[in-house]
Amino acid sequence: MSNGTTTSGLTFDIQLSTERRTPQEREAILENPGFGKVFTDHMVTIRYTPEKGWHDARLQPYGPLSLDPATSVLHYAQEIFEGLKAYRHPDGAIACFRPEANAARFNTSAARMAMPELPEELFLGAIETLLAHDGDWVPTQADTSLYLRPFMISTDVGLGVNSPSGSYLFVLIASPSGAYFSGGVKPVTVWLCEDYTRAAPGGTGAAKFGGNYAASFLAQAQAVEQGCDQVVWLDAVEHRWVEEMGGMNLFFVFGSGEDARLLTPELTGTLLPGITRDSLLKLAPELGLQVEEGRISTDQWRDAALSGELTEVFACGTAAVITPVSHVKGREGEFRIGDGQPGPVTLRLREELVGLQYGRRPDSHGWVRRF
Ligand code: PMP
Repeated sequence: MSNGTTTSGLTFDIQLSTERRTPQEREAILENPGFGKVFTDHMVTIRYTPEKGWHDARLQPYGPLSLDPATSVLHYAQEIFEGLKAYRHPDGAIACFRPEANAARFNTSAARMAMPELPEELFLGAIETLLAHDGDWVPTQADTSLYLRPFMISTDVGLGVNSPSGSYLFVLIASPSGAYFSGGVKPVTVWLCEDYTRAAPGGTGAAKFGGNYAASFLAQAQAVEQGCDQVVWLDAVEHRWVEEMGGMNLFFVFGSGEDARLLTPELTGTLLPGITRDSLLKLAPELGLQVEEGRISTDQWRDAALSGELTEVFACGTAAVITPVSHVKGREGEFRIGDGQPGPVTLRLREELVGLQYGRRPDSHGWVRRF
C-alpha cells in the first residue's frame, strides 16, 4: 500500500488491483458498455465513526463489501447515493459537470437521513483519486461517459432501531456508460401513476435515498405492463399534480419559435432537485426561452396537448440527459405530444447541455471541472 494525495487532512491510501483488466479487455468493454453493468478496476472507500470522524480513505481493488448480517443498512435502509458522469473532452482531458452540486445534494440527502455530511473536498477528492487510476475507463465515443456512483451506508451492527447508526461507509464506484435508453434520443412513452405514491410532504422525496427507488419498482413494472417506458409520479394528496419521473425531472414546452415558454414542476420538497433541471433553468433564458417553475396537473397536460398549445415535453437527468416524451398514458386514456417526434426546443437544449458537458462549448458558468 502506498500513500496518495492528501485531501481535507486525509491521505488516500492507494492499493492497486493485481487483477486490472488489460488495455485490450478494457477497450472491448468500452465498445459496448451498456449502462451500470460493468465496473472499473478500483473503488474508493472512506469510513466514518463518531470518535474519528471521516478516516481511512483508500483506493482499493473493486470488489465485494463484507458486512455482518446485522449491519443496520440491511435492515433500516439508511443509504444515500449520487450519480454524475465523467466526460472525455476533445483535448483528451476528463471533466465532470457541476460535481460540487452533487456534493451539496449528497449532504442534503445525508442530513435528511440523519447521516454525517461528507466535506466537499473529500467527495471531490474521492473522484479525483478514482479518475487518477481508472481514467482510461472514460470512453471516447459520442454520447458515452464514465458514470460515477458515490454512496453511503450505515454500518453499525445491531438491530436497535431507536437511533441512527454511528458508523458509516462512503464508497465511490464507476461504470462506463453508453446511452441510457437503448434507442439514443428516442422519445419515451410515460405512464401516469395513480396507484402508488413516490413521496409525500415531510417524507424523503427530495433526498437521493435508496428507499425512494425501492418503493418505485412496482410502479415502474406497472408502467411497463401498460406498454410505457417510464412512470410519471403525481402528488401524494390529490394524485393530480405532476412531480417527476423515475430518475428524471420534467419540462413542458408551450408555444413555439420565439414565443416558446417552458415550465417545470416547482420543488415542493417531494421531488428530487435535479442538477440537470437547475442547469436548464439557467441555460434556457440564455437561449431566449422563457422558463418558469410552477404547477401543472394531469388535466392541464392532456388539454394543452390536445389543443396543440403544449408542443413538447422532455425529461432530464444525468443518466438520460434530455429525452423527449412522445406519448402519455393513464387510467383515462392516452394522448400524444406534438407529432410524437423530438421537438426543436428539446433538441436545442440538449445540444447546448451536451456541448458544455463534452467540452465543445465555452463554459461561461464555471460548471465544468477538469480532473
Ligand atoms: N429525479 C430523480 C428521482 C432522480 O433519481 C434523478 C437522477 N438523479 C433526477 C430527478 C435528475 O437529477 P439530476 O439531473 O441531478 O441527475
